[in-house]
Amino acid sequence: MDSISTAPRDQLLTELHRCASQGETAHVSRMVQGMRKLGLDSRNEQGWTALMLAARNGHVDVAKILLQNGCDPFLPNKSGQNSLDIAEFWDHTEVINLLRNDPQIKEVANKDLVNFFGLNPLDRQSHQRTNKQWIKDAMQAPTTTYILYRDLNPYIIPSEDSNGTFQYNLAAYSFKEISFALKEEASIIFLGVGPLHPSMNKDGDMQENSSEGAWFAVDVTSIPSEDLQKIKPEAEMLPKRNRMALMLLSPVDAGIISQGRSMLAWHDRYKFCPTCGASTTMAEAGYKRVCTKEGCRSLK
Ligand SMILES: [Zn+2]
Repeated sequence: MDSISTAPRDQLLTELHRCASQGETAHVSRMVQGMRKLGLDSRNEQGWTALMLAARNGHVDVAKILLQNGCDPFLPNKSGQNSLDIAEFWDHTEVINLLRNDPQIKEVANKDLVNFFGLNPLDRQSHQRTNKQWIKDAMQAPTTTYILYRDLNPYIIPSEDSNGTFQYNLAAYSFKEISFALKEEASIIFLGVGPLHPSMNKDGDMQENSSEGAWFAVDVTSIPSEDLQKIKPEAEMLPKRNRMALMLLSPVDAGIISQGRSMLAWHDRYKFCPTCGASTTMAEAGYKRVCTKEGCRSLK
């Protein structure tokens, strides 16, 4: 262990991050002993900790060791995603289950599901979720931004910034553009209120000086792709299983996209009532699922 305790700190962290990414469980296990004082939660340039890297690559044994040695599952990376968000985004079931059962996460999850989602610029305005009229008005406001998902994959727009660097932007849709898809049975989730998306108000019918608007996530899996393509031909789905794809989004866009995706994924997992097994339906603007069976004990 001498070589580990005397090696420069940065080198050790780089090595820990590499082992966590690649799932070298035995090596990580040896390293954590000597590294506790250096801080196992130290981050790389993208703000990722070893636990996030293990979560990203689905290495459940590595994640277990890191959690046992006190790694913080709540820390967000520069895109506002914590380790659970990352595991959920990449669909690593074992890591998701490990993190969900972590006592620290469970405690918070019991208080408020929304605490999972790390940092993003939206104010979640949780008091409005039960206000049906407010939600209805917000859905139709010209200041409102919709982001769309197909099979949990968000729609994005590839572009280049002023330096010619390739990047992705979230694809923002207005109520006018997307109203045809907002059917009664659609999964529509209120994400919060935040800065107006730059592409909003093309029609100029919003009130002057609006700098904020509501944001919603919509599952468009049942809408034919061609119908969406007609509205925004430049929009496409974020490439699946591409490790760089998320990094090409701005931290703000990635934070908002992760929040919507985590919530849609949550709804996807709880389609059936845990009490009676009947189907459930979305309630409170996407923050609750309720059983559809009359008299079910879960409704009391
Ligand atoms: Zn039930």
